Amino acid sequence: MIAVTGSASGIGAAVVPALRAEGHDVIGVDLRDAQVRADLGTPDGRQRAIDGVLDRCGGSLEGLVLCAGLGPHTPDPVRIIEVNYRGAVTVLDGLFPALRTAAVAVSSSASTMVRWADNPIARGEEAAALADAGEYRGQLAYAWSKNALTVAVRSRVAEWGAAGVRLNTVAPGAVDTPLLAGGLADPRYGDAIRNYRAPIPRHGRPAEVAALIVYLLGPRAGYVHGAQFMIDGGSDALMRPTEF
Ligand code: NAD
Repeated sequence: MIAVTGSASGIGAAVVPALRAEGHDVIGVDLRDAQVRADLGTPDGRQRAIDGVLDRCGGSLEGLVLCAGLGPHTPDPVRIIEVNYRGAVTVLDGLFPALRTAAVAVSSSASTMVRWADNPIARGEEAAALADAGEYRGQLAYAWSKNALTVAVRSRVAEWGAAGVRLNTVAPGAVDTPLLAGGLADPRYGDAIRNYRAPIPRHGRPAEVAALIVYLLGPRAGYVHGAQFMIDGGSDALMRPTEF
């Protein structure tokens, strides 16, 4: 059994049939339209998600995919960090003892847009930093949350590797989902998202990200651990050819 958070929409909704096509049973976790309904933005909701998955898998989970997330246009930027970072990491750690094979967290190309040394989440100072962030607070909260998520994954490689459970992130660029549509419609961020170009001149498709996630969960990725895979049509290489 493989648990997928954010299974009701976008990338998560594409991961579910891709896993089923490989013969896996899937436990969906989301605010709605899922076997386990839970709000990953609150401590109670995270515990409900962990308990609900453990209940359904009988304490032994083959894989985990963390897709649930909020975009930069979300009105409350604190909630972006609570869902994208704390929600993801708490579920990851809560299900780790039950995991048998691998987990994949969906980070973002935005994770590379801030350095950990400059990320206020590293010092628990995000509330104060957001109060000073002006109209870019949603974008900053998003980049900080995804940078912190990727750092959290990379920081767990020793413990998870010793337990025989692989852990990786995928970092999409712009992918055609309701989250992207929400950002494009926001007058504060729409132009910046439109100006984020990819050498492959289109948005990514949820099924393309799902295919990478299925690969990372499977036996052909048996030596892939602690890696972040950009899936961005070449944007990162275009912007930062000498940094990787
Ligand atoms: P989406 O809005 O289509 O799907 C997100 C899902 O997460 C929804 O089903 C939503 O209900 C769920 N969710 C949101 N808040 C939740 C909460 N508090 N508790 C439980 N579930 C919650 O978005 P998407 O584009 O498919 O995003 C999936 C992941 O991909 C997110 O983590 C997002 O940050 C990341 N991502 C998306 C893009 C993009 O361009 N679409 C780019 C980079 C990264």
